[in-house]
Amino acid sequence: MSGTIRKLDSEYIAGTYRRFPVEIASGSGSLVTDTDGKTYIDMGSGIAVTSFGIADPVWQAAVTEQIGKVQHTSNLYYTEPCARLAEQLCLRTGMKKVFFSNSGAEANECAIKAARKYAAEKKGDDFFTIVTLKNSFHGRTLTTLAATGQEHYHELFRPLTPGFAHVTAGDFDELKAVCTDKKAAAILIECVQGEGGVIPLDPGYVKAAADYAKEQDILFMVDEVQTGNGRTGELYAYMHYGIMPDVVSTAKGLAGGLPLGATLLGEKVEKIFGFGDHGSTFGGNPVASAAALSVLNRIDGKLLADVKKKSAYLFEAFSGKPGVESVSGLGLMIGIKTAKPAGEVVAAAMEKGVLCLTAKDKVRLLPALNIPDDVLAEAAEKILAAIEE
Ligand code: PLP
Repeated sequence: MSGTIRKLDSEYIAGTYRRFPVEIASGSGSLVTDTDGKTYIDMGSGIAVTSFGIADPVWQAAVTEQIGKVQHTSNLYYTEPCARLAEQLCLRTGMKKVFFSNSGAEANECAIKAARKYAAEKKGDDFFTIVTLKNSFHGRTLTTLAATGQEHYHELFRPLTPGFAHVTAGDFDELKAVCTDKKAAAILIECVQGEGGVIPLDPGYVKAAADYAKEQDILFMVDEVQTGNGRTGELYAYMHYGIMPDVVSTAKGLAGGLPLGATLLGEKVEKIFGFGDHGSTFGGNPVASAAALSVLNRIDGKLLADVKKKSAYLFEAFSGKPGVESVSGLGLMIGIKTAKPAGEVVAAAMEKGVLCLTAKDKVRLLPALNIPDDVLAEAAEKILAAIEE
């Protein structure tokens, strides 16, 4: 990689990211090439973002067509991609309204604002607590950090936004007690804890929590930032769980590589926001929306069945293999607990030409939804070799 770029990066970019020593120059589908000409299989998709891979032709056509028309208007005017995308999101989920933003954290901020306003209007100002799970991840803004149930993210940034409580996933009695005690406005969960180590929640727990929330008129909100948009083999992960949330937040893979967040508002909160209650300069940008429409149109039954097939292949490829302690996840969101530290496996896989991620102590795989089967098999073989060596 170019020493100049590395030097510029360390001199001028805030030191928040520990980057791998790879400078990516280009890519095609599930292959990326660095500036030294080395090609890698991309098993991370920019952390679940490039849903159909790098420089995908269908995605590119949607983006370039829109760029040729108008790239931005602000939310003072109507644009077609934004309205059509909102329509599709509602038709595909049964939700009623959409607020567009630019990231997962912002999508969650909007969900939290919706919950605070709903509960204050329905029950009173003291019903403001958002109950989330320990080991969750909901973003890096001060409010979504407060929602995140992992202490170590909080340490340097107190005071965080007040009004959050964290409960242990799977402990339904604790959830009920904390909701009563703290006068909960909403429960916010990830159906599969991604950053927390690729851990799917127990279906019985999720169903019981959703039923309880309904009975108590506490909003049930699902963070689908990482799990959404086909990643788990359903359009949204909650669809595996037989529940209907009141609010769904999503981002990452929604626009396949452009910044777009969406907060989907169900029946209870469809009218919660009035003029001026919330806003975003870029939210629902026509180029990002056109990209998302093209992504959403391709997430059909056939694609989702294929995601499930590829998922089964990966579970089979890794389960019980030497050096593999366990495999967890849903769809193409896979966590592999290895005997060797996950960071070492990722470094060894990179040497062999495969880019993977970590999540806590696991090797995390988030390949493109359409990764070709032969490419997936080659990646699995190389990762296994990295685990075993
Ligand atoms: N929520 C979940 C479940 C996430 O996994 C993430 C990012 O990893 C976020 C929220 C924050 O998203 P963003 O980085 O786009 O703000």
